[in-house]
Amino acid sequence: MTLVKELKKKEEPKSGMLNNVLQQFNTASDLVGLNPNIRKILGITNNELIIHFPVRMDNGEVEIFKGYRVQHNNALGPYKGGLRYHPTIDIDAVKALAMWMTWKTSLAGLPYGGAKGGIQMDPNLYSQSELERITRRFTYALGDNIGPEHDIPAPDVNTNSQTMAWIADTYMSTKAPSERSKNQHVVTGKPVGSGGLEGRDRATGYGVYLNIKFWAEHKNIPLKDKRFIVQGFGNVGYWAAHFLEKDGAKLVGVQDAFGSIVNQEGISVDSLFQYTKINEGSLVGFSNAAAIEKDDFFGVDCDICIPAALGNQITAENAPLIKAFLVAEGANGPTTVEAEEILLEKGVTIIPDILCNSGGVIASYFEWLQNRNGELWELDEIMARLDKKMKEVFIRVLNMSENRKLDMRSAAYVIAIERIERAYVQRGIFP
Ligand code: GLU
Repeated sequence: MTLVKELKKKEEPKSGMLNNVLQQFNTASDLVGLNPNIRKILGITNNELIIHFPVRMDNGEVEIFKGYRVQHNNALGPYKGGLRYHPTIDIDAVKALAMWMTWKTSLAGLPYGGAKGGIQMDPNLYSQSELERITRRFTYALGDNIGPEHDIPAPDVNTNSQTMAWIADTYMSTKAPSERSKNQHVVTGKPVGSGGLEGRDRATGYGVYLNIKFWAEHKNIPLKDKRFIVQGFGNVGYWAAHFLEKDGAKLVGVQDAFGSIVNQEGISVDSLFQYTKINEGSLVGFSNAAAIEKDDFFGVDCDICIPAALGNQITAENAPLIKAFLVAEGANGPTTVEAEEILLEKGVTIIPDILCNSGGVIASYFEWLQNRNGELWELDEIMARLDKKMKEVFIRVLNMSENRKLDMRSAAYVIAIERIERAYVQRGIFP
């Protein structure tokens, strides 16, 4: 079977993520006794944009694409969130992901709201120049629905710094010459040479690692020799694995869109990374590990499980198989509500997505500040700031969870929602 066909098989249940985020929000709203009017506002997305736009393909034919941008809430600042290129993207998935961004930015104490977007397509089917035209035409179609002080996209699944460079260039090209350079921060996650932040590429994975480290330190568990599995070996999974391995932990299982591999003796993170680079991005055929069935992946014997791919991956079916004592959510929405109940019942700790993967958007905030203030920050300084910020947020969630006897997700939601509620109460509702 070709890689593309394999990828297409991996579909998420359509509106599963939206149900998931709404249930999480309702549970947390009950916990905080959220003002019913604010509950109505936060339970719905502010703006939803669906755009059909034409792009000329390499063979001369025109194809129509479906792009999305959903802006959930901007009570705390401009909308913020990534753009995802994936065949399973639909309006409900984007709504769910936009809501998660609102909670994530609020929890991290950033001056941002939440948004998400993307294009419903499989990027593996297109050439680099087609991807450039698709991205540029989508950006043009979005027009002033995005903007450096209004709604700031960033990379997500299957988009990267190159995608952001095309967006920034297209957006800036539509402005008058004297205005162009003021608009560089319309997106974050740009290449370092084009206004990007040193270390932005590794920030999400590094943040996942930091959360695991903080939790392990709190529990007096050394990371050395702990066995971990990673679902998704993209930007998030790879960097999280890289930093864990540096601390002596052992990668024993990996799953990507194409296959699943296991080696209880340990898989070298960099050997696997080099292999995927020469193998169309796929881990299939990696020699130093055994291939296993897709559905057996979450049952692999390990201590720490890192879902770092798509939503709805840990479900009521596979949650009972999980051996890990810690699930660290690198992806957005990887655990369904039913699966979470099963895991908590088993005594598994879950570091929730809105905390665990917030290193990315925190680094995005640094990039945005850097552009806005015409500064250039150095890598050491950036990583130290990221470390400090992530520790503060982690401690806040940990304290809330211990003081109020809540699981970490509920604790994180309580903090996030209370901050937004405060802003609404202070300002009231217009008119
Ligand atoms: N796509 C990332 C996320 O889900 C980063 C978003 C951003 O930097 O705006 O958090």
